[in-house]
Amino acid sequence: MRVLIVEDERQLAENIAGLLREQASFAVDISLDGEDGHHMALTNPYDLIILDLMLPKMDGLAILRSLRAQRVQTPVLILTARDATEDVVQGLDLGCDDYLTKPFEIAELAARCKALIRRSHGHAAAVVTVGPVTINTTARQVTLQGQPVILQAMEYRLLEYLAMRAGDIVSKADLLEHLYDFDSENFSNVIEVYISSLRRKLDPGPAHKLIHTIRGQGYLLQERRP
Ligand code: CA
Repeated sequence: MRVLIVEDERQLAENIAGLLREQASFAVDISLDGEDGHHMALTNPYDLIILDLMLPKMDGLAILRSLRAQRVQTPVLILTARDATEDVVQGLDLGCDDYLTKPFEIAELAARCKALIRRSHGHAAAVVTVGPVTINTTARQVTLQGQPVILQAMEYRLLEYLAMRAGDIVSKADLLEHLYDFDSENFSNVIEVYISSLRRKLDPGPAHKLIHTIRGQGYLLQERRP
């Protein structure tokens, strides 16, 4: 999952980004002003946008209004100052999905982010099951036939994304855009390396595949054969 934080308090933005990278396995980009944030939100396929309201150059509500007018459906969580009920109401009317009042517990923000992303993919519950594999997106724990499977951070990030879109063919370009932020070096052959290590850990047997390669199109996570 890849998240955009639009927040002009650099330290706060970096704290949120650090936590989401470490505790949610998200790729995270930061934008420190409204104009830049608006541009980044329009030009990259984020899974979630965390949007401060009081921003230099373009305020958060104007960004939200513009994104929704241009049919950007990405979930948006707004950050507001205390005593800003009117802003919250306006934000909800404009199509934000959730809000938090500053100061907030970063752990609560992470939990809300995960829930928003899951729901945007049609998963209300925190545990996602694909055949014999369960993914607990809160604890980031994976089991295969009830047995715990230890995954590296990038393997988990890849599996979680494929699981959110289980049953859909996900292109390699999509994976590169949703698993990496601007600061990471993303080489498409690395995706293949992670796919094969996930397969070694998760495919129950050669006759029973979960991760299918669809030639020329991408990858598909599902229990039955495509
Ligand atoms: Ca601000």
